[in-house]
Amino acid sequence: MNHAQRLDALRAAIEAPLLVSRLPNLQYLTGFTGSNGFLLVRPGGQATFITDGRYGEMAEGLVAALGDTDLVVYTSGQWDVFREVTAGLGSVGLEADGVMWSFATDFGRETGIEPTAQPGTVERLRRTKDADEIAALAAAAAAGDAGFSGLRSVATPQTTERELGWRLIDMMRRHGGESATWEPIVAAGAGASIPHYRSGRKPIGSGLLLLDYGCVVDGYHSDMSRTVWLEGEPDDEIARVYRAVLEAQEAGIAAVTPGRPCGDVDEACREVLRGYGYEKAFLHSTGHGVGLEIHEPPWVRRGNDDPLQVGDVVTVEPGVYLPGIGGVRIEDMVVVEAAAPRVLTRSNKEFQIR
Ligand code: ZN
Repeated sequence: MNHAQRLDALRAAIEAPLLVSRLPNLQYLTGFTGSNGFLLVRPGGQATFITDGRYGEMAEGLVAALGDTDLVVYTSGQWDVFREVTAGLGSVGLEADGVMWSFATDFGRETGIEPTAQPGTVERLRRTKDADEIAALAAAAAAGDAGFSGLRSVATPQTTERELGWRLIDMMRRHGGESATWEPIVAAGAGASIPHYRSGRKPIGSGLLLLDYGCVVDGYHSDMSRTVWLEGEPDDEIARVYRAVLEAQEAGIAAVTPGRPCGDVDEACREVLRGYGYEKAFLHSTGHGVGLEIHEPPWVRRGNDDPLQVGDVVTVEPGVYLPGIGGVRIEDMVVVEAAAPRVLTRSNKEFQIR
């Protein structure tokens, strides 16, 4: 990952000094993976990385690779450091989506500089993924696929939802997944009608099973959902829901082309579900960007006229939820490319798996 180049892009993009403190943004710009750090970036000029004694050694190597960046490591008195590094600056932007109210007010009082709210500056740079980032996302997606293909060998009707979630994590780790930062959603039977169901001690049984899970490779997240019928003949209504959602998802993926508003992808899915009479049972938006954060811009939702761009990576995940009966969601990660959408998650979409 070329951090120096990313920092230069930020230097060129800002008109006033910006204090970067959101951890995914620090990771993007410097490779830093600690829990406390700040990068003060001056337009076209010297940057300063600030962290505490726990991360000094890690930061040294990263900062050395950045160029035109100095390092300040404090062991006490954070505000003394901020007063010193901001001396003489007319204004400082804080990341409006990442700082606490108390930090912003303390910053103003302690440094004498009234901070300005700067939302989304680094996130806009992060939106377009380069080849290294797409490779990491593809590797994370492949680990998720490996988990799905192992499903048949680890799931019995007695396996509990939670156990199956742990098995999925285990299989992703064996296939290159470095961590799984959220518990897989494993929802059996009627539980699948709750989009963000909390998996429990219930055995999965042999009918409907909805899985939504992912892992992290080099800081980049995967996110996928599949819904299957484990054994025997599926219930007629659920089988019809499955056909509708699959058709909707395929229409959504086909709409992932550069220049097309994000809202069009949502509408492509919605239109199919409307035809089946299920639009009101589609309880969430169609998708989201995915990268260093599991949910990040661009937002694939109704009415968003923000056009898709080459290098965006988004999920397409329509779902239909019928209380007391069950639900179906199918989710893939898709890269926006000039020629055709490139789907990173490759798991098959057969409803009946035995
Ligand atoms: Zn998702």
